[in-house]
Formats: sequence, structure tokens, C-alpha cells
Amino acid sequence: MEDAKKNALLRTLPSIDELLSRPSLAALLAPLPRPLSLAALRRAVEGARARLLRGEEAGFQDDDVRAALAELSKPNLRPVFNATGVVLHTNLGRAPLAARAAERVREIAVSYSNLEYDLDEGERGSRYAPVVGLLVELTGAEDAVVVNNNAAAVLLVLASLCAGREAIVSRGELVEIGGGFRIPEVMRQSGALLVEVGTTNRTRPGDYAAAIGPQTGLLVKVHRSNFAVVGFTEEATARELSSLGRERGVPLFEDLGSGCLVMMAAEGLTSEPTVKSAISAGADVVTFSGDKLLGGPQAGIIVGKKELLAKVRKHSLNRAVRVDKMTVAGLEATLELYRDGRLDELPVYRLLVQRPEELQRRAERLWEALAEKGVSTRVVATVSQVGGGAMPLAEPRSYACALGCRSPQALHELLRAGSPPVVARVAEEQLLLDVRCLTEDDVAPVAQAVAAATRDSSC
Ligand SMILES: *Cc1c(COP(=O)(O)O)cnc(C)c1O
Repeated sequence: MEDAKKNALLRTLPSIDELLSRPSLAALLAPLPRPLSLAALRRAVEGARARLLRGEEAGFQDDDVRAALAELSKPNLRPVFNATGVVLHTNLGRAPLAARAAERVREIAVSYSNLEYDLDEGERGSRYAPVVGLLVELTGAEDAVVVNNNAAAVLLVLASLCAGREAIVSRGELVEIGGGFRIPEVMRQSGALLVEVGTTNRTRPGDYAAAIGPQTGLLVKVHRSNFAVVGFTEEATARELSSLGRERGVPLFEDLGSGCLVMMAAEGLTSEPTVKSAISAGADVVTFSGDKLLGGPQAGIIVGKKELLAKVRKHSLNRAVRVDKMTVAGLEATLELYRDGRLDELPVYRLLVQRPEELQRRAERLWEALAEKGVSTRVVATVSQVGGGAMPLAEPRSYACALGCRSPQALHELLRAGSPPVVARVAEEQLLLDVRCLTEDDVAPVAQAVAAATRDSSC
């Protein structure tokens, strides 16, 4: 469009005042609070202006206001389709809850509950009492405490058991978990004094033994959840450290990171230590996340010896990092699924143990649904990821629909802005839609969203 025509069209854009009194919009705007009307009108006019500047000829229409209003009333936090192939994607909310757990959360969220009320005695109780029995049963530990997340669990354990005293850690385990959570900094904040032993690649039990002194409060072991050290390596096992600790009267604390309650064996997965194995190897206190491999709500779970957990429970920080009732509800329902052997109801478990043939069939169905809408893709083999700092070396085989495109980034941007948004992966000039984290029911709406985005992009 030539500039003169474009400018003429831009001059036809209505003013906000004019729109406020436009009879055709009166019914739509009348029930709305004025700030919302204004926001919708501004957004609608801006949208129309952007269209004209892009060279499209459609000027302002009343429907622009309806669309703007729909856009404005969408919640900021909303469901997305995860086509990244990363099962525990921290940016996408990690573990999706089991349906039963979500139902329990809803039930407890909308009503009063016995969260801190002992119904037998009619007096105050503990908020995580509902899950202690299950955690003890599933991990073999003596006792359990639940806090807001595992970062808080690590901080609380160190603050309650090691403030002002020395915590001995291998240099090979002074890790950054992500989001700036660095073990040495957490130690400093807890008041524990860090004593580093060994080297990045090799630390022996003797290194810990030599560092134990009158000021030692804990031996600390941190699971290398998001990386691996290979080659010329050596590491003291939990069993070795716990027997050393017992000999010298120093408890062993292990941060397992993800921590899983059962072995998850499937094609392409590696083994992640179970909480039970850490406890039976002799760890006195173990912490792990609720929303990583466990597949529950965000939580930090602390299990271990009764007398140590009594100190953890009493520490004033415990109040600052306490769990919400919805967390307790979701966690209890999730743990019940483990107790009852109903693992296939846990989304994280289901997503991880899918067979490649199953994934290939789903990718073919997505390919077909896209083809029906005129979008041509290729089904390609991919490797998805466990994510969430678990099984860093796992290479679960998966399949994706690959969409060749001049600007896959621009297409991805449109997909993310869609409704519902689709988050995918861009690799080598292609947009990859990995089907691992998409259900059968997701295939049709994802195809719909991709078709709409390709229409709007110059793909
Ligand atoms: C993930 C992780 C944490 C942090 O857990 P959050 O539940 O995300 O707070 C701490 N330590 C290790 C080893 C981890 O892998």
C-alpha cells in the first residue's frame, strides 16, 4: 500500500471518546467498569493501527473491541500445550498433577478443613500430619516434615542442624541447581560454615574423615541432578559416609534433588536413586522435591531420624517456609497413588514410560491432523528430556512433527501467543512439535493452533 493511502486509512481510526458513545458498542460496554472499557478500546484501536501499518486494509471494526475484551479477560496464568518434549519443565510448571490429586486440592481449597486441627482430640495439630505416615511408609524413614520447596528444605535443614557449625561437602557437589540456587550460597545463608573437601572429580571418604573436627555439624551429600562427571572420577557413597558419620558422631544429610519413590525403568531412562535407597544406605536426613519425579505439587520433603527432624520442626524458619493446605491435599493424594500401586494415574510416570512406538503413532496422528488443515510437516525421531534436574544423561527417544519454515522463531512466537499457547522447540530452521508431553486429546487442538499460526505467519 502506498503511504498516502496508508495515511488516509490511519486517519479513519476512531478516537476513544467517539467509541465510548458509539451506539453499536453501548450494549457491550455498558456493564463494564470504565477502566476495563478504556483498556479494551485502546487495545482495539492499537490493534487496528498495527494492522494498517503492516499494510493490511481492514480498518477498525467493532469486533476488534470484542476481541480485545476477550484478550484482556484471559487470566495471565493459564494452561499451555507442552510440545518441548521436556517432561519436568520448570518454566511450564513442572509436574502436572494426577486427576485425583487435583480433585483433592479443589475439595480442600474451597472449604474449611482440619489442616491444623486434631479431630480426635479437638485441639491444634500439625499441618503436615496427613502425609507423615505415608512418607514414612514409602521411604522407610522414621519421620517427615514438609515445606514449600526443596530449596527451602535444604536451607531449613542446614539452619536447624548446622548453624554456626561446619558442614563438610565435596568440591564435586558444590553445584548450582538452576535459578541461581547455589549450594555454597544456601549454606552461607543458613549460617552453616562450608568446609570443602576433595576435588571436582574425585573425593574419597578419607577426605571427609580428615576434615571432621569438634566444630563439625553435618556431612553433606548433594545429588548431581543436572549434570554428570565422567572419566577419572571417584565419589564417597552415602553408605561410606554414613558409617564414617556414625563412627565420629556426625549425621549425614543428603540433598537428593528430585528424589523418586520408585524405580522408573523405561527405554532411554537412567536410574535415579530412590529415597528409600538413600535412607537404607544410612543417610540421617534426606530432602527432595514434591514436583519433580515424584509428580506431586511443589513441595520440599524432609525425611529422616526422629530426633533430628524434631529440631527441624522447632526451628523458626519452618514457619516461614510452611506449606499451604492445597499442597498438603495434593501431596497426600499423590502419595496415596504410590501406596496403592496406581502409578499409571501419575502423569509424570505415564509420560516417562511411554514406548517409542506409541509416541511414533501419536506423532503420525498429529501429522495427519496437520495435513488435513493444509500444514505439511515431517515425522522425525527426537530425543526428549526428563528435565527438572533429574536423570541428566537420560535420552528417552521420542517423535516430533517438524515444520520447515523460513522463520521458525516467528512461527513459535505466534504459537506462544495463541490460545491456548503451544510451546515447542526450534532446531535447525525447523519448528519441532515433540509429542511426548501431549495427550491423544491434545492432538486436535494443537493441530488447530499450529494451522492458525502458520496462516498468520509468512511460513
Ligand atoms: C531441584 C533441586 C533443588 C531445588 O528444589 P526445588 O524443589 O526446586 O526448590 C535442590 N537441590 C537439588 C539437588 C535439586 O536437584
